[in-house]
Amino acid sequence: MKIYVDHPELEPQLLFIKNIFNLYFEDVFVLNGKGDNQLTFNITNHTMTHVKACLTIAGQSYQSEAVRPETDKKSVKQAIAKTLVNMLTEHTGITQSWGTLTGIRPTKLYHRLYRQGLSHEAICEKLAADYLISREKLDLMRDIVRIQNEAIPDLYDLKREVSVYIGIPFCPTKCAYCTFPAYSILVHKNDVPEFLVGLLHEIKETGEWLKKNDVKVTSIYFGGGTPTSITPEDLKLLLDECYRSFDMTAVREVTVEAGRPDTIDPATLDVLNDFHIDRISINPQSFTDETLKAIGRHHSVAETVEKFKLAREHQMNNINMDLIIGLPNEDRTHVQHSLAEVARLRPESITVHTLSFKRASEMTRNKAKYPVADRDEIMTMMGLTKTYARDHGYVPYYLYRQKNILGNLENIGYAIDKEYSLYNILIMEEVQTILGIGCGASSKLIHPETGKIENYLNPKDPKSYNKSYKHYTTEKIRKLELLYNGTAVVE
Ligand code: SF4
Repeated sequence: MKIYVDHPELEPQLLFIKNIFNLYFEDVFVLNGKGDNQLTFNITNHTMTHVKACLTIAGQSYQSEAVRPETDKKSVKQAIAKTLVNMLTEHTGITQSWGTLTGIRPTKLYHRLYRQGLSHEAICEKLAADYLISREKLDLMRDIVRIQNEAIPDLYDLKREVSVYIGIPFCPTKCAYCTFPAYSILVHKNDVPEFLVGLLHEIKETGEWLKKNDVKVTSIYFGGGTPTSITPEDLKLLLDECYRSFDMTAVREVTVEAGRPDTIDPATLDVLNDFHIDRISINPQSFTDETLKAIGRHHSVAETVEKFKLAREHQMNNINMDLIIGLPNEDRTHVQHSLAEVARLRPESITVHTLSFKRASEMTRNKAKYPVADRDEIMTMMGLTKTYARDHGYVPYYLYRQKNILGNLENIGYAIDKEYSLYNILIMEEVQTILGIGCGASSKLIHPETGKIENYLNPKDPKSYNKSYKHYTTEKIRKLELLYNGTAVVE
C-alpha cells in the first residue's frame, strides 16, 4: 500500500506517519508527492492551536481536526497523529486502545506526570486527550506504576546506581522469531573459551571502575542467548568473576535466563544455587509440541515440565515463565491449554508476549510458512491471559510494546507474591544506567542529572567481539567517566 503525502510540514514525518498506518495495515509505504490521488494524507489547515487534515483511501474521503496540546513542534506531531488515527479508525472500524502511541514504553509517560504530582484522574485526562489512550490501558498503566513504586521505593532516585546486563550469545538452536544474538552452541562450542576471555575482562574492568567511583549496582541480569547453554564449569568461572569484580553488597537481585529447558541440568542448577541466584527464567512459550517444533525450539513440553520440577528440587523459588500469544497455527484453545499447564506449575512470574514479526527473523523472511491468527483471535487470546492472571493472583508489574506486534498489543510481566523482576522494571522505565557487557549487549547510559540517554552497542557476533572487546571496554569506561565525573579518561 502506497500512501502519498504532499505538504512541507509532513516531509520530516514520513516514518512517523508510516508507523501510524502500520497500526492498521501491513506493508505500508509512505511517499512524498501527489501520486495518483487515490491514497493521500494531507494537512489542510494548521494554526497555533489546531491541525486539520484529510485522508483519501479506497475511494472515500475523511476529514479530522485535532487540538495541539502545546505550541512546540512535538505537539504538531501529536495533533497530526490524532487526526490520522481518528480517520483510520472511522475507515477501518478498528479502535486502537493505545491511541496514537507507537513508542515502546507507555508507562514512562505515566511516571513522568506522576512525578510532577498529578492525580490519576488528571493523568488520565491528559494522556487520553494527547494520545487517545483508552481508559482500560490508562488504568493498567496506573496499576503498574503503583506496583513499581512499591517494588523499588527509590525508583526515582537511583542516579548513582547502575544495573548490569551480561550477554552470552549462545543457544541450542535459533528460534524462528528470534533476532537476539543467539549462535548454536553445538556449532560454536570452541568459540566459548575465547569469548569468556573478553567477557571476564569487561566484567573486571567495569567492576573495578564502579567500585572505585562508588557507583553501586542495583541488579544484574544474565541474558543473551541463553546463558545456561555454556558448561557449568564456564558458568562458574563467569559468576566467580562477577562476584569478585562487582560490589555485591548493594545488589538487590541477580537473574539468570535459563530460558531453554534443554540447557538445564543438575550441575548447572548446582552452580546457580552456589551463587545464590535469585531468579531464573524457564520459558515454555507454548505447551503444544507441534508449535515448539514449528518455531525451532527443539525441546518438548515434557522437558519444560521436567526441568521446571528439577529447578524446584534445586531450591529455585523464583522462576519466571515466558508465553507467546499468536504463535503459528495457535488459537485460543492452545492458549487455554498453556494456561492450564502454567496453573499446575505455578511459577512466581509469567511474562506474556504477543508475537512480533521482527525484520531479521526467519519467521518474517518466510512469513507464508508461519500462518498466525487474525486480530480478533489475538485479542481473545490476550484477554484469556489477563483473566487467568487476575483469577490466579498474578498482578501486572511491567509492560512494553514492540513494533510489528500482532494486534498492536503489548507484552506484560505478571507476578505473584511480590516476586517482581526489578531489572525488568529498571530497564523499561529508564531510570538508571544499564551497563551492557558481552556479546550484543546494549548499554543505556543515562545522565544522572539531565536524564539524557545514550545507547552504546557491543558487537553482536562472538568473532567481532573477541577482536574488539578491549576497545569497547575502554570506550564504555570513558563514557562512565563523562557521565559520573564529567571528565574523560586520560590513557
Ligand atoms: S531461546 Fe531466546 S535467545 Fe535463544 S534463540 Fe530462542 S528466542 Fe533467541
